[in-house]
Amino acid sequence: MNLNQDFDVIVVGSGLSGSWAAKEFCEKGFKTLVIERGRMVKHIKDYPTANMDPWEFEHRIHKTRADVELNPGIGEHYAFNESTSHFYMHTGEQDYIQEKPFQWIRGYQVGGKSLLWARQTQRWSDYEFTSPQRFDYGIDWPIRYKDIASWYSHVEKFIGISGTKDGIDNMPDSEVVGAFEMNAVEKHIASAIHQHYPDRKAIIGRCANLAGIKEEQIKQGRTQCMARSMCERGCPFGGYFSANSSTLPYAEKTGNLTIVTDAVVEKVLYDEKLQKATGVSVIDTKDRSKKVYTAKVIFLNAATLNSNLILLNSRSSYFPQGLGNKNGLLGKYITFHNYRGTIGATMPGFEDKYYYGRRPTQVFMPAFRNIHSEAADFKGSYLIAFSAQRETWKRELDNMGLGAAFKDALSEVGGWKVSMMMQGEVLPREENHVRLSDSQVDKYGIPQLITSVDYDDNDIAMMEDFFKEGTAMLRKAGCENIYTVDRHESFGRQPGLEVHDMGGVRMGHDPQTSLLNAHNQMHHCKNVFVTDGACMISTGNQNPSLTFMALTARAADYAATLMKTGEL
Ligand SMILES: Cc1cc2nc3c(=O)[nH]c(=O)nc-3n(C[C@H](O)[C@H](O)[C@H](O)COP(=O)(O)OP(=O)(O)OC[C@H]3O[C@@H](n4cnc5c(N)ncnc54)[C@H](O)[C@@H]3O)c2cc1C
Repeated sequence: MNLNQDFDVIVVGSGLSGSWAAKEFCEKGFKTLVIERGRMVKHIKDYPTANMDPWEFEHRIHKTRADVELNPGIGEHYAFNESTSHFYMHTGEQDYIQEKPFQWIRGYQVGGKSLLWARQTQRWSDYEFTSPQRFDYGIDWPIRYKDIASWYSHVEKFIGISGTKDGIDNMPDSEVVGAFEMNAVEKHIASAIHQHYPDRKAIIGRCANLAGIKEEQIKQGRTQCMARSMCERGCPFGGYFSANSSTLPYAEKTGNLTIVTDAVVEKVLYDEKLQKATGVSVIDTKDRSKKVYTAKVIFLNAATLNSNLILLNSRSSYFPQGLGNKNGLLGKYITFHNYRGTIGATMPGFEDKYYYGRRPTQVFMPAFRNIHSEAADFKGSYLIAFSAQRETWKRELDNMGLGAAFKDALSEVGGWKVSMMMQGEVLPREENHVRLSDSQVDKYGIPQLITSVDYDDNDIAMMEDFFKEGTAMLRKAGCENIYTVDRHESFGRQPGLEVHDMGGVRMGHDPQTSLLNAHNQMHHCKNVFVTDGACMISTGNQNPSLTFMALTARAADYAATLMKTGEL
């Protein structure tokens, strides 16, 4: 064995969660290897479109028909366009089989999807950790809020979260650096909601954009968010948290980090005699050569479906169904968030009011249905996000037309429009699963993943409830022209496009019904940890990535302790 290939820790994937594992291990003094299938992306230097104006793009930032036809999945994604396309994985890189329609959105580069994410962050509370028990679905979470609260703080203080302290029991406060503000119409709607519904709260969204800045972010060389809303191109100011601007440079500074790029991890290697994993085997994406890297501990952070794939593909005589998969549950209980419902409306008046900047968040309403009483005819809950804007599309340079149309557009501001969306808990079900094809492989010769994931009646009942409650709230606030849209029915929106895929390698108390213990450690292979979304038992209604980061930091701390005592 080549000694250069032997590390204390291997982290698979350099994205949002993997970069946290890398930072934590490197800071604790462990020689850490991050293996990334995509290319290197260095902060600032590798953001080629970050400062480009619309007229500098051949198609003024629109997606072309060719883009959409060539990339049927990502072509539909809201953030995919000429300015961001280079951070999305394009068709052909890793084919998969949709047994049921599922849009698998991937970002294959150093930094992963942390470059693309919309940065909304809310903590879970015990309402989410106890949801499977309260609604009698799934298995019990082996942790509660108290086990993760300090890890949320640890992550938030470093990355910088904007928001207010709101004292809401089912959306605990974050450590914050400042807050963005609601505009006049949003304040009006929020106040009408508070007046008519004492149990409901409308707060400014919490997000990983720096509305203010503290010493911790200044030390990272980052500056305050400029509200340009060009985040998905990579932010040269470090105005939002990405692995590239924050965690990876910190890991690098320690001298303990090695990053190997353009290398696809195909499997984790298991030694039956030693009863542990010894390393990973990788395929070089350029010349297809294979290599083995070894380490004491392996963290899988390849993003939910790829971590499932790697484990399913890590078959040995001891684990013929995939690493650690003694109970046959690996790949099952895949879940996601229900984004089907949206509501639109107009708000009369407020013509003398305007706002400045392109704020990177909305107004959020923490879940209120089925929280303090279980009243609704569906299980789980949903949060609501809404925003109000002047019809500024008329003033967006890429939409202003030419000649007379351009001049007209310059002088028109338009009335206020309001949009509202839901983010609902999709209950984990055994039949929502991924598995490997036994006949088709991708271009690297790795078995293709089959996705078999769909909505069910609970999701539809939840959406109908959102339509009813959302419409009533907007009406009470004085909105007009209210309409609802089921984006699945109307536009064929499929699961996956929300990019909140979770599950398949779930945590749990019992090795009979779960794959990982309370510290994200495999029950049956103690030196392998899975800390991306694959570990999730249920989805809650909150945006998930803050929880992935907190779980990762917590698990890294646990693994580090076991390494120091020689148990790993
Ligand atoms: C447009 C958009 C908006 C979003 N908005 C939000 C939001 O507002 N809030 C929120 O919480 N979440 C949001 N998300 C989701 C968020 O980006 C993900 O939850 C998060 O990035 C997941 O972190 P991760 O580390 O698991 O995966 P990633 O960040 O995707 O990183 C995984 C890394 O692993 C690498 N990899 C994969 N397979 C292999 C392999 N076999 N070998 C080696 N490397 C591999 C990938 O190339 C990638 O770099 C959004 C996502 C998108 C795309």
